[in-house]
Amino acid sequence: MTYPQLSLYIDGEFIQGGGRREQDIVNPATHEVIGKLPHATREDLDRALAAAARAFQSWKKTSPTERSKVLRKVAELARERAQDIGRAMTMDQGKPLAESVGEVVACSEHAEWHAEECRRIYGRVIPARNDSVRQMVLREPVGVCAAFTPWNFPFNQAIRKVAAAVGAGCTIVLKGPEDTPSAVVALAQLFHDAGLPAGVLNLVWGVPAEVSEHLIESPIVRKISFTGSVPVGKMLAAKAAGLMKRSTMELGGHAPVIICDDADIALAVKTLVPYKFRNAGQVCVSPTRFYVQEGAYERFVAGFVEKTQALKVGDGLLPDTKMGPLAQARRVGAVAAFVEDARERGATVLTGGAPIPGVGNFFSPTVIADLPEDARLMTEEPFGPVLGIARFKTIDEVLARANSLPFGLAAYAFTGSNRNAHALSTGLEAGMVTINHLGLALAETPFGGIKDSGIGSEGGTETFDGYLNTKFVTQMN
Ligand code: NAD
Repeated sequence: MTYPQLSLYIDGEFIQGGGRREQDIVNPATHEVIGKLPHATREDLDRALAAAARAFQSWKKTSPTERSKVLRKVAELARERAQDIGRAMTMDQGKPLAESVGEVVACSEHAEWHAEECRRIYGRVIPARNDSVRQMVLREPVGVCAAFTPWNFPFNQAIRKVAAAVGAGCTIVLKGPEDTPSAVVALAQLFHDAGLPAGVLNLVWGVPAEVSEHLIESPIVRKISFTGSVPVGKMLAAKAAGLMKRSTMELGGHAPVIICDDADIALAVKTLVPYKFRNAGQVCVSPTRFYVQEGAYERFVAGFVEKTQALKVGDGLLPDTKMGPLAQARRVGAVAAFVEDARERGATVLTGGAPIPGVGNFFSPTVIADLPEDARLMTEEPFGPVLGIARFKTIDEVLARANSLPFGLAAYAFTGSNRNAHALSTGLEAGMVTINHLGLALAETPFGGIKDSGIGSEGGTETFDGYLNTKFVTQMN
C-alpha cells in the first residue's frame, strides 16, 4: 500500500497544493520520506474559523438524533477502513500494525458512545416559588472549539475531541499532529463521508505555536482542548484563561505502579510488560515508576526483565514486531538522556539502555533499578520504552512516594488484599486508578488527570461537560 495523500479539510473541502508550504513526512522505522503535508496559510486558518462560525448557527439547531446518526456512521466506516488507516498510521507513527489497526477499531467506540450520550444531554426544571413562574436549566453548546491533538495516538486523540464537540452541537477547528498526520486526515474523510455538513469539522496543519496562537486569539473560538505535554498545556491554558475561554487539558503523567507482597506476581508481570512497551512507551498513562514491596521484589524484577528481553523490536509493518521505533528522531536522544542520568547516579541498567544501531529511531526496551528518588527517570515523564524500579516497605510509605510528584494522571496497583486495594484506590492522587488489571480509556469511562496532568475528562458521562454552557431561564406566564 502506498502512503495516502495528505490535505487540509476546510469548509467541507480537502485541499492541498496551491503553493502552500509543505512538510516532509518521515517513516520512523526507515527514515524514508513518505509524504508531504500542506501547511495552512493565515487565510486558510481564517477560512476554517469563518466556516466553523457559520456552520455553528445551523449545527447547534440539529436534533440529537441527527447528530447521533452521523456519529454512528463514522463508527461503521472506521471499522470498514481500519486496515488501511492502521497501515498508514504504522508508516508515519511507527507502532506495530496490530496496535494501529486496534486503535482505529477500539476508538470507533468513542463515536458510538457520543452518538448514544448526545441523545441524553438533558436540562432540568426547578420548582419555582411562584405558581406562574417556570424555571429551567438548559445545556447549550459552547460554540466554535479549537483542538490540538498529539502524535502518539493520532486517531484516538482526535476522534475523542471531534466526537465530543460534534455530539454536543459545537463546531471545531482541529490542528492534528504534523509528524503523524495520516490517521487524522482519514478521520476527516470519515466524517465527510458520514454526511457531516461542511464547516462543522475543519482540519488544519502548520507550525504548532503559530496555529494555536492564531486560533486561541480569534474571538470566534469559545473553547480550547489540548492533549500533549504539561509545559505546552500550561501555556495554552494560560492563554485561554486570559481571554476567559473554557479549556480541557489532557497532559502528561508519570504513572506509579505499586506491586504488593501479596500480589499475583505472575499476573502482574504478564500484564505489565506488554502494557509498558505498547507504543514504545509513548503513552501518557504508561507505567513508568515501579514500586515493588520487598518480599516480592526479586521475583517481580526477574520475571519482568526476562519477559522484556523477549520483546521483538522492529519495523511495525513486520508481522512479529512487538515494539516499533520512537515516533521522532528527537525522542531517541531524549530517552537516552534519562538513561545517562540514571547511570551517572549509580543506578543498575538491568536490560536495554541504548539506541539500537542502524536505520530508524529504535531504542531497546530498558529496565533500570537502584535509582535514587531524585533521578530524572523517577521525577520526569520519560515518554519512551524505559522504566525505573524501586523497593518499598509499607503502604503509607509508598503512597507518600507515589504522590510526591506534581503529576496525577494514571496509577496502577497489584495486591491480593482488599485492605491494600482500598488504601491505594483512596490514597493515590490520580485521575484514574486501576487495580489488578488494566482497564483505562474505555468509551464509557472518564479519562483525565488532576494536578499538573490536566483539567477535565474525556469519555464517560462527563464527556460533554466541557462542551456545554449552562443557561438558566425563568419565565412568567
Ligand atoms: P512538545 O512539548 O514539544 O509537544 C507536545 C505536543 O504539543 C505535540 O503534539 C506538539 O505538536 C504540540 N505543541 C507544541 N507546542 C505547541 C503550541 N505552542 N501550540 C499547540 N501545540 C503545541 O513535546 P514532544 O517532544 O512533541 O513530545 C514529548 C512530550 O510530549 C512528552 O514528554 C509527553 O509529556 C508529551 N506528550 C503527551 C501526550 C499525551 O497524551 N498527554 C501526547 C504526546 C506528547
